[in-house]
Amino acid sequence: MTGRVEGKIAFVTGGGSGMGREHALLMAEEGAHLIVSDVNEEGGRQTVADINDKGGQALFINFDVSSESAWQAAVDQAVTTFGRVDILVNNAGIFLVKMMQDTTEQELDRMLNVNVKGVFYGCKHILPAMQKAGGGSIINISSIYGVIGAPAASAYQASKGAVRLLTKSVAVEYAQYNIRCNSIHPGAIRTPMTAGLMSTDEATKALLASTILRRPAEPREVSYPVLFLASSEASYITGAEIMVDGGYTTV
Ligand code: NAP
Repeated sequence: MTGRVEGKIAFVTGGGSGMGREHALLMAEEGAHLIVSDVNEEGGRQTVADINDKGGQALFINFDVSSESAWQAAVDQAVTTFGRVDILVNNAGIFLVKMMQDTTEQELDRMLNVNVKGVFYGCKHILPAMQKAGGGSIINISSIYGVIGAPAASAYQASKGAVRLLTKSVAVEYAQYNIRCNSIHPGAIRTPMTAGLMSTDEATKALLASTILRRPAEPREVSYPVLFLASSEASYITGAEIMVDGGYTTV
């Protein structure tokens, strides 16, 4: 067995769709046991079935990442089932295209609850389990929109900017426990989240105007950097941010 995360226990949120599904499948292929979580029951169960059908070991937990009590229960269930957690990918997230002046209080609350509190609680509740296990790797999914500005995305950008810096806080506070924490910043990736943005050739072209590779990515092109950060190959990398954006943030 030569898996890059052989025998590791990995927890992936939003694992029932898009990139989260691909992160879970790739880590399972590389030898990890998976906890797949999502509010999308059908998608989450499908990911778990696909892993188990190929001889892997995966557990599905349906919970909303914005609930702190649900996070506590999910981590307890993961530790009871697998004994520990070595890897957490805080991937679940939501998106909103709206001008700031049109963004409602409810929309902003929801965005921050899922994209910021969801990541905060995930880190908070996995850290004691990782401390007990002697270390771990947390990968938080931010966005290019957590690094640079864009129109009609202020609520999303506020949330993803927070994820970027929250990642560095965890890295600094928990390095003493051998816990690494890094952020990934995807650009335009083909998933259900961006299907509307890429529904026509014209819309896709506009979306890709600043992407120097001039194409959107497939989810797996983000899963490989996630796998790298999860694995011991990245043992000296913490507090870092990796752009997976076809060069979008380069020019
Ligand atoms: P996706 O296909 O929409 O998948 C996200 C999954 O998370 C869905 O199954 C969704 O369920 C679930 N989810 C939403 N809210 C949740 C909650 N409160 N608790 C638990 N699960 C929840 O999205 P994706 O494109 O793969 O995005 C994955 C991550 O990458 C997100 O954090 C996103 O912001 C980030 N990202 C995406 C892109 C891109 O181009 N796609 C670019 C930069 C960053 P429902 O479908 O039922 O809502």
